[in-house]
Amino acid sequence: MTLHIPFDNSYARLPDRFHVRQAPVPVAAPGPIAVNAALARALGLDPEALTGAEGVAMVAGNWLPEGAEPLAQAYAGHQFGGFNPQLGDGRAILLGEVVAPADSPLAGGRFDLQLKGSGPTPFSRRGDGRAWLGPVLREWIVSEAMAALNVPTTRALAAATTGEQVWREQGPLPGAVLLRVAASHIRVGTFQFFRARNDTEALRLLTDHVIARHYPGAEGPMALLAAVVDRQARLIAQWMALGFIHGVMNTDNMAVSGETIDYGPCAFMDDYHPETVFSSIDQFGRYAWANQPQIGVWNLAQLATCLLPLIGGEPAAAVEEATAVVHGFAEIYQAEWLALFGAKIGLSAATEADRPLIEDLLTRMAGGQADFTRTFRALLEGKARDEFLDPAAFDAWEAGWQARLAQEPGGIDGAKAAMARANPAIIARNHRVEEAIAAAVEGDFAPFHALNAALAAPFDAAPDSPYRAAPWPEQRVLRTFCGT
Ligand code: AMP
Ligand code: MG
Repeated sequence: MTLHIPFDNSYARLPDRFHVRQAPVPVAAPGPIAVNAALARALGLDPEALTGAEGVAMVAGNWLPEGAEPLAQAYAGHQFGGFNPQLGDGRAILLGEVVAPADSPLAGGRFDLQLKGSGPTPFSRRGDGRAWLGPVLREWIVSEAMAALNVPTTRALAAATTGEQVWREQGPLPGAVLLRVAASHIRVGTFQFFRARNDTEALRLLTDHVIARHYPGAEGPMALLAAVVDRQARLIAQWMALGFIHGVMNTDNMAVSGETIDYGPCAFMDDYHPETVFSSIDQFGRYAWANQPQIGVWNLAQLATCLLPLIGGEPAAAVEEATAVVHGFAEIYQAEWLALFGAKIGLSAATEADRPLIEDLLTRMAGGQADFTRTFRALLEGKARDEFLDPAAFDAWEAGWQARLAQEPGGIDGAKAAMARANPAIIARNHRVEEAIAAAVEGDFAPFHALNAALAAPFDAAPDSPYRAAPWPEQRVLRTFCGT
C-alpha cells in the first residue's frame, strides 16, 4: 500500500536562515507502535497506509514520502530564565505540512508533520538526537488526553520503535520516534532567534508567516502580540482548571499558535497543592502549578521584545503599548479562570463575587490533601467530603456552595449536568503513565492502549473505572524526568 501525503510546505519556503535541510537518520529496525487512525483521517491521510511498511519506515526515519522537505527548525529560547541564543530542533525533523481536506473536522487547517527522536541535526549540541520509548509514549498519552479534554495541543499521529538502544541516566533503553502534528512548531523562541541576531527582515517574514497561518485577522505585529496573549491566557487557564503542570515553560516550549507543546516532565496533579512541581530539573519551582500564569506573562514579554523593532512610530510609545498588551493577559486569564472554575462547581455564570467561594474550596483542598480531579468530580456525585483528610473542612464549605447553587437558573440538576462536562473523571495520572511505559519496555503495549482508550472519553467514565483511582502511597510518582 502506497503512502501518499499531499505536502504543501510553507515553512520550507522561508529563507535558508530559518532552518537547516536535514533528513532523518535511518534506524536499525523500524517497528510499529501505534497509529492514530481518527487523526490520520481528519488530516486526509490513509490510516492503513500509515500502519503499513512504508508508514512505519517513514515514522522511523527510514523512508521519505514524495513531497517531504525534511528540515530542522532554528530557534532560541530562555531556559529556566537564562537565554540561549541557539537551540533549534536537535532531535526533531519537520517533514512538511498538510492542509486538512474540506470534509474533515479540521477542514482547511494547516498542520506540521514532525518526527521527534529522528536523529542528530546541526542543532543537537551534545545530544544524541534520539528519544527513548518512555517520553514518546508519555507525549502520546498526555497530548491525546489533552485533545480529548478540548485543550489546544499538538497531537500524536504515529509512533515507531527503532530497534536501537538509547543511553540515558537509567542505562540503555529502547529507542522510539513520535510523528507529531501541530498547527505549527513556531515558538516564542523562534522570534527570539532572529531578535538575538538583529535580523529585522527575518522577524518581519516570520511575523507575516505567523499572521497568515494562525491569526489571519491580525493587522500587524501589535495585533499579533494581542492575539497570542489572548490564546495563551486561555490556554493556561485551561491547564490550571485541569490541575495540569507543563513542567518546562521555557520560551522555546511556548507555541505562538496557542497549542500546548513539548510534553516533557509534564503531569496532572494528584493531591492538590498550588506549589506542586514534578520536574526533576525544576529545582526552585519556577514552573510550579501556581506559577504558570506568571510565567506565561514573562514569556509573552519576551515575544513583545522581539516584535518591538517591527512596530513603527515613537519607540517609547511602542514599548508602552506592547507592555499594556502583555499586561492584558491578567484580565483575560482571570475572566477565563473564573468561568472555568465556576463551571467546575456548577456555576453557569460565575462573577467576581463567586471568586472567594472557589478560592476557599481550593484552600481547603490544599489543607486536606484532597485529590484535584477526584474532588471536583465527586462534587456532582455528593462524595467530595471523602476526599479530604478532615471531611469537616469540606462540610464547612458545602453549606455556602449549596446556597449559591440554589440561585442557579437551571437548579441543581442543571448545575450537575454542567459540572459533568467541566470535571473530567479520568486524567492521565502519572502512575498510570509510568505503568504503561514500564509494560511497554517489557514489550507489552496493552496497558498503553487501554489507558489511551480510557482517556479518549474523560468525562463519561463509569463510576467504577479503575482509571479514576488516585495512586496508593506506594504508587505515587513525585518526580518526572526530562531525561528524554
Ligand atoms: P526540550 O527541553 O526537550 O524542549 O529541548 C531543549 C533543546 O534541547 C532543544 O533544542 C532540543 O532539540 C534539544 N534536545 C533535547 N534532547 C535532545 C537530544 N536527545 N538530542 C539532541 N538535542 C536534544
Ligand atoms: Mg522543546
